[in-house]
Amino acid sequence: MPAKILIIEDDEIILRFLSLALKTNNYEIIDAKNGITGINQCMSQKPDLVLLDLGLPDIDGMKVIEEIRKVSQTPIIIISARDRDKDKIAALDHGANDYITKPFNIDEVLARIRVSLRSVKAIEEDKPFIFKELKIDFNKHKVFVNEEDIHLTPIEFKILQLLVQYQGKVLTHKFIQDKVWGYDTMDNYQTLRVFIGSIRKKIETENMNSLIITEIGVGYRFNDD
Ligand code: CA
Repeated sequence: MPAKILIIEDDEIILRFLSLALKTNNYEIIDAKNGITGINQCMSQKPDLVLLDLGLPDIDGMKVIEEIRKVSQTPIIIISARDRDKDKIAALDHGANDYITKPFNIDEVLARIRVSLRSVKAIEEDKPFIFKELKIDFNKHKVFVNEEDIHLTPIEFKILQLLVQYQGKVLTHKFIQDKVWGYDTMDNYQTLRVFIGSIRKKIETENMNSLIITEIGVGYRFNDD
């Protein structure tokens, strides 16, 4: 069964270009040229993924994310000309999974779609996470690099666990803070940056660098290549 993708985009040329590229890659496509139709299509057609433009003729794309999230956890990737960090953060905090700015590279869009279609990996208590030389035992709260036991502080462990759980997805500073500290406490994200730096130093090696990717001004993403 090909994955079904809903494209919500009012620009005919972009819509046609995306549809064609995705069909060529064996996806099934449905489309909507405004927000309300998009929301309705999402409810009735239950797509496996949504590509969403933010600047729509009837309602704003942010509202579309909100409405879809009330009923569905289907991955949403924003494709928008809005390139300010503020917009990216707002979209991710509203529940979008990823954000691509226009003009986009189609190969990047295809790659991000593949990542989002892999479902969020549920962390099973007794099954370790293994990625390259990194191994995490969630049950025992232990981290190994090349079989060597690495000591992380409880906060570092929580941050790493969160990043790994959403491997490939951009997590905003605010999202990480809410999940790790329980509330949005800091006026800037300096403290989080320090923790990330410390985790990197502990788990990254010469053959295994850029495990945690910085999305400048937005947040962090755990590498999945
Ligand atoms: Ca538009």
